[in-house]
Amino acid sequence: MKTYSCGAFVLALAGCAFSQQAPVPVEAEPHHHVVLKNDFVLVTHVVIPPGEATLYHTHSYDRAAVHLTNNVVTLQQLNQPESEQTPAKIGEISASTRKGDPLTHRVRNVGPGPFEVIDVEFLQRPAQASAAVAAPVAAENASARIYNWVLAPGASSPQHTHQRPYLIIAVNTVQLKMTAPDGKASTHEVKAGDFHWVDSTVTHTLANDGTTEGQIVELELK
Ligand SMILES: [Zn+2]
Ligand SMILES: [Zn+2]
Repeated sequence: MKTYSCGAFVLALAGCAFSQQAPVPVEAEPHHHVVLKNDFVLVTHVVIPPGEATLYHTHSYDRAAVHLTNNVVTLQQLNQPESEQTPAKIGEISASTRKGDPLTHRVRNVGPGPFEVIDVEFLQRPAQASAAVAAPVAAENASARIYNWVLAPGASSPQHTHQRPYLIIAVNTVQLKMTAPDGKASTHEVKAGDFHWVDSTVTHTLANDGTTEGQIVELELK
């Protein structure tokens, strides 16, 4: 991107370091598309075309990420060297607790295809975590637990209960059948990056009614 190039004129006068871009909040970074913001979460769908980089942007909260593509990126914190090339895998989940200062960095797509990730910032860290754990925890931070359901065709999760609000995200296309304890079921086709915020107590099973493997991720507030 042009933003990063140091023109010969600028270089001659002041050098590259002085033309460094001022960091922006994550929701103002042009590759981070805000798809949901409420009192609890800021959800962005990040899309970085090959060869492009984000602006330097600042994360101020506990976060989690769900990868939607296979790719290779580099990461660079402000005033630090650029990282080694790091593979990002579809379906990979990460969670981090913000410790102390906000994180300011940029991400560069050095792979051959688009880089896509759902990034979730948790805006309210609980003073005390809820004891109500719905399922095996695949990843967690101080604000949320993450449940990962990889469902073969015809497979279903155990029945489980969400006592706390949660965000459900599809990693790929799934014929998702959700069944309540009374047997009432609904099936929807969900696609990569589709999500839904649920702010009520829910008991359900998740099943794959399709013919290909599906992955559904639930991020539940602690
Ligand atoms: Zn970032
Ligand atoms: Zn669930």
